Amino acid sequence: MYQNVTFLPLSDITQKVTQVCMIIYDVTDIALNKQMASEANQKLERLSHTDFMTQLNNHGYWLECCQHEYKRHTRTQQPASLIMLDIDHFKNVNDTYGHPFGDKVIKKVADCIRENMRETDIAGRYGGEEFTLILIDTELENAKIVAERIRQSIENVAFDFEGTEVKVTSSFGVAQITGNIPNYKSWVKTADLGLYIAKDTGRNKVSVSPH
Ligand code: GH3
Ligand code: MG
Ligand code: MG
Repeated sequence: MYQNVTFLPLSDITQKVTQVCMIIYDVTDIALNKQMASEANQKLERLSHTDFMTQLNNHGYWLECCQHEYKRHTRTQQPASLIMLDIDHFKNVNDTYGHPFGDKVIKKVADCIRENMRETDIAGRYGGEEFTLILIDTELENAKIVAERIRQSIENVAFDFEGTEVKVTSSFGVAQITGNIPNYKSWVKTADLGLYIAKDTGRNKVSVSPH
């Protein structure tokens, strides 16, 4: 029982407090409703940040985190890197094996990212088959190692389509915040340029834009 209690001092004719009156109110219903409303709000907030299919951060919330991390970097000057990855020839995967199979691939790629990131890293589903990962306190060289680990982990998954083994690959762009990167949008753009280079030079690789 949740209670509200009021204490009232009771005085005798000489004004001396001789007794105390306690009034106890049962506020269980109000307290439980408040608790449930607060839990429901927390759940709604989580849902509004999360991509339903992969359970990673959704595009909007991930961008908010990215802006926040960029600002944190300008304050602390600690290194921060960003990985952007995109599944190779994904349209072919959908066209050949169907959309539900494509969805299965997207979910598994999200698992590969989750399994290879630290708890403090911030992963997001940036678009259909495009993912992003912020690595806090991480320099470019280490971010490239993480990207390479995720690349291999995706490459090594053997999907099953009606008894046939199917494999997919993905391409990566990596960018660390430097003096040439004036804001978070430019940080994302630089990682995207790296990804473009990876696509342009054969796919299934990790690349860094020289800009
Ligand atoms: P590239 O190697 O250059 O990245 O080629 P691509 O075919 O992967 O690139 P493109 O951007 O042309 O194709 C992306 C495809 O991803 C097209 C779109 O239908 C598919 N897609 C986007 N979102 C989803 C989704 O949620 N589920 C499935 N199954 N497919 C999706
Ligand atoms: Mg693609
Ligand atoms: Mg794409």
